[in-house]
Amino acid sequence: MNGRAREIGRARRRRPSVRVRRRRALVALIVVATVSVTTYYTLRAEHLPSRVADIAISTTTSTVARASAPLLLITATGITVPVQGLTSGGWRVVTPCGRTTTLTTGTVLSDIDVVIDPGHGGREVGAVANGLTESRLNLQVALELQKTLANSGIHAALTRTADYRLPIAARARIINKVRPKLFVSVQHNGGPAAEHAGPGTEVYFQRASPPSKRLAGLVWEELFNRLKNSSSHWVGATDAGAIYRTGEDGKDFHGILRLTNGVPGVLSEAAYISNPSEAALLATPEFRAAEGRSVAAAIKRFLMTKDPGSGYHEPLKRAMHDAGGGGTMNNCRDPALTAATP
Ligand SMILES: [Zn+2]
Repeated sequence: MNGRAREIGRARRRRPSVRVRRRRALVALIVVATVSVTTYYTLRAEHLPSRVADIAISTTTSTVARASAPLLLITATGITVPVQGLTSGGWRVVTPCGRTTTLTTGTVLSDIDVVIDPGHGGREVGAVANGLTESRLNLQVALELQKTLANSGIHAALTRTADYRLPIAARARIINKVRPKLFVSVQHNGGPAAEHAGPGTEVYFQRASPPSKRLAGLVWEELFNRLKNSSSHWVGATDAGAIYRTGEDGKDFHGILRLTNGVPGVLSEAAYISNPSEAALLATPEFRAAEGRSVAAAIKRFLMTKDPGSGYHEPLKRAMHDAGGGGTMNNCRDPALTAATP
């Protein structure tokens, strides 16, 4: 005990010089960062609102600034964060845990048509069965969907880009910042379910939103028609289809649909991880790509046609307890937003 106290005492006496050295290093870092920021803004000037871009490119030649405002920033570590604004210190952004911080590097996104939300992540893995983990599967399908949309010139951003926890409030913050034409939360079902005559695909919509309902009908139609051709032993709920689900208060049960008022969105549960024969399909990259293509086809029809969609059902009355993870900010730990300095 005494020995430790002495050690701590020595450490304390030494500390000021370390502090001074650290402070000097920090000053040097800030100088370097400021220079990089200037260069960075110049390079990224096409993403900036014209006023900011004018400042940023005042010393450069012929870059023409676009009028669209920066919406999201992909950090150096690949994390999507909503942009609040530009300060002299860098981009002011909101972290997944809801903290405001300033970043000096990253890729700014300003033109986004669609937001794709891969459900779960980090310690909130979602359904786990038959060798599949829902959080991983959701991200794999989301990336296929993003790729397919990109091939059609539709720009989609992901709320989650890797395996980290993202509270529902943070997902909703991204969607509400972007206000895309639509969003899709990509999920997969788990848990016990009864045998079903065909695929038990469920696509949830925002109860009060006709566009969300139409999108759900189109996503359901595309997924169901794709799935029914695969030989599988299906399971599902009796009311599976394009449905809504409300909590005790009559509001949308799923947080991602409830917290995104005015932006049409759906939550898709294409198939059951917990059913071995559906899991066997989901385990193949071909099927995941086909699932992404099906949702992309539905999105294109939503944007380019007046097709009504199908599969609409009145939901069964059921007791609603827990939205199933990802809902709270409790013990929220942000993923690393800046690359570790060597
Ligand atoms: Zn899920």
